[in-house]
Amino acid sequence: MSQPTPSPFGTQFAATMATATWDDGAWSEVQLGPVAPLSVHPAAHVLHYGSAGFEGLKAHRGDDGIVRLFRPDRHVARMQRTARLLHLPEPGIDRLSGMIHATVAANLTEAPAPPGALYVRPVLIGTEANIGAAAAPARSALLYVLTSPVGDYFTGGLRPLRLAVETTLPRTTPQFGEAKTGANYVMALGVTLHAKQELGVDQVLFAPDGDVQETGAANFLLLDDDRVVTKALDSSFLHGVTRDSILTLAADLGYEVDERQHLSLDDVLAWARNGGEAALSGTAAVLAPVGTLVHDGDEIPMGDGEVGKNTRTLRDALTAVQRGQVPDQHAWTVPVTA
Ligand SMILES: *Cc1c(COP(=O)(O)O)cnc(C)c1O
Repeated sequence: MSQPTPSPFGTQFAATMATATWDDGAWSEVQLGPVAPLSVHPAAHVLHYGSAGFEGLKAHRGDDGIVRLFRPDRHVARMQRTARLLHLPEPGIDRLSGMIHATVAANLTEAPAPPGALYVRPVLIGTEANIGAAAAPARSALLYVLTSPVGDYFTGGLRPLRLAVETTLPRTTPQFGEAKTGANYVMALGVTLHAKQELGVDQVLFAPDGDVQETGAANFLLLDDDRVVTKALDSSFLHGVTRDSILTLAADLGYEVDERQHLSLDDVLAWARNGGEAALSGTAAVLAPVGTLVHDGDEIPMGDGEVGKNTRTLRDALTAVQRGQVPDQHAWTVPVTA
């Protein structure tokens, strides 16, 4: 019997979402209701001045049937950071984590078995109807939590990615590196589309002036049998929860973790010459192997150009925790019951 073709990532939604509004400096009650089109005024702040932030986390169904959110506290804290950077109202920890739990609980039967998961997408937008508010924060806002049953990000199994290296343009502006906001994605889009068309790559690694930052939507790591190397946290890139989790598990497994103040393109090219692996980390892609870098017309294989052994080891270590297959030593998973 053939398997049904899974829907592309992020195109299918579970039926129920949580919403809350913010007006006159106060939040409304949280409501659970059907996923349906929103009603926003055509003059809404978000539609003109880009006041939109989001998060992305997953709830995983274990072999034991229990559905567990992965590190929701980290995602809540990051959404608060995004809200501050966008001058949107900061949702309180209890409010936002309560909305995430309630939405997952309401859609629990929609959480697929591994390698699928229930992807959780909290969104915060400025809704004030005022096109004169270009230089002012929105005075009203909408917060909602949508969920999407997703399959494996890589249909047809893990495959090594091709990345183009961009050495001129940054991924985003310095003040928005740590913000999870749509503006950053649309900013990276032109460069990424061009590289896809011209070079047949999957993604672009942004390394302005040789300073290796990240790709459009994932953090960048170097791995070999002994070490995991990545850029130390600074304000230029998004602080991935997956990045943090992989570094923690790598240390647990005896790898030396080297977070460098400055990770240069020369460091990466030297790593490649020594046969080292590279990978991208993010909630959607977990830990995705990089097979090839395309830089200045050169094709540079990372590792043996295939799915690296250390990449696979760390990816499996992370998914085992997420699925409740091994003891959760860092208290990262949070069970959700209906
Ligand atoms: C969401 C995101 C990541 C990955 O973060 P995770 O918390 O690991 O999912 C990395 N870079 C950018 C730009 C992102 O938006």
